[in-house]
Amino acid sequence: MYQTLKNFGKAKIQEPLCKHTTFKIGGPADFFVTVEKIDKLQELLAFLDGEGQEYFILGGGSNMLARDEGFRGVVIEVKDKTIEQEGDEMIACAGAVTVEVAQQSMKGGLTGFEWGVGVPGTIGGAVRGNAGAMGSEMKDNVKKVLLYKDGSLHEYDNDACGFEYRSSIFKREGGIILKVWLKLKKGENIEGKKKMLEFLRYRNTTQPQGYASTGCIFKNVEFNETVPKGAYNRKKLLEHFDKENEKVQQFLSVGKISAGWLVQEAGCKGYQVGQAQVSEKHGNFIINLGGATSHDVLKIIEMVKEKVYNTYGIELEEEIQIV
Ligand SMILES: Cc1cc2nc3c(=O)[nH]c(=O)nc-3n(C[C@H](O)[C@H](O)[C@H](O)COP(=O)(O)OP(=O)(O)OC[C@H]3O[C@@H](n4cnc5c(N)ncnc54)[C@H](O)[C@@H]3O)c2cc1C
Repeated sequence: MYQTLKNFGKAKIQEPLCKHTTFKIGGPADFFVTVEKIDKLQELLAFLDGEGQEYFILGGGSNMLARDEGFRGVVIEVKDKTIEQEGDEMIACAGAVTVEVAQQSMKGGLTGFEWGVGVPGTIGGAVRGNAGAMGSEMKDNVKKVLLYKDGSLHEYDNDACGFEYRSSIFKREGGIILKVWLKLKKGENIEGKKKMLEFLRYRNTTQPQGYASTGCIFKNVEFNETVPKGAYNRKKLLEHFDKENEKVQQFLSVGKISAGWLVQEAGCKGYQVGQAQVSEKHGNFIINLGGATSHDVLKIIEMVKEKVYNTYGIELEEEIQIV
């Protein structure tokens, strides 16, 4: 396997995943291959599918927890970072860094994706998880996606992507995103840039700095009537919290309860297991104090979910991918 993988990119054996995740956690992958071109990626996927070999796609490793036991199979690091502009569209290969796509779109005189400067990881990972910030999400910008699935290529337009809050058809049904087309607008958005700088500043003051993490652990809790458990969550919110409370009013107006706030109100900030800790600064972040294991993090996740459920009857759901 190792010799064959070398035909597709730089291959390694027993590569520690902690070197490739922003959480700095994760045991060894049997095989680890870095692929720099999308056509090579496509060939590699076809080869692995043909072999019936287990594999996992890694973008920037900024939305996942890799287990200490590592991964039995091939981890494919997608590193094709090509970004092109055609008129008011940005075309990015899956390994393009989301922040760079946002910066290049602004340099290229386009507006609409300023918010992407705050999202770590790759554009492939961002589309799969319908990443979002500052009230926008990938759903607002994606025109088309090129996907590898079951040995062939498929194009998905925005509707076909089935975007939902922090989810997409790719997350729910699989497939590997190869390329992404973003539809933006010509022009400079001074307000957008100002908002973006404010947002980055806000982020620095509200999110833990200087520790490895993987962003928000839990999804915010929806109470849209059409979402399962939505009406139930709304009832619980109103049962347990004062409707006049400014935060609660904010949640009611956007239709989502901040998971970080629930964690905080349930008194879980500062929970620590081993070297992993619920951030004192932001309830939805778990930080690695140095040398945390996936077992430490999984234990904290379990403790927090239990406490929030026992206190408010609301079930938190992980946003991160656990591998
Ligand atoms: C400090 C910090 C702040 C963050 N802030 C935000 C934020 O504001 N908003 C937000 O939405 N997220 C945020 N995140 C989470 C994260 O940055 C996003 O979810 C990001 O889009 C993940 O991309 P990635 O390439 O790192 O994905 P990875 O972590 O590498 O992968 C995540 C999942 O996507 C899959 N995947 C990756 N690439 C592909 C592909 N090409 N095709 C198919 N599947 C693929 C992986 O297999 C895995 O299941 C933050 C994270 C950190 C560490």
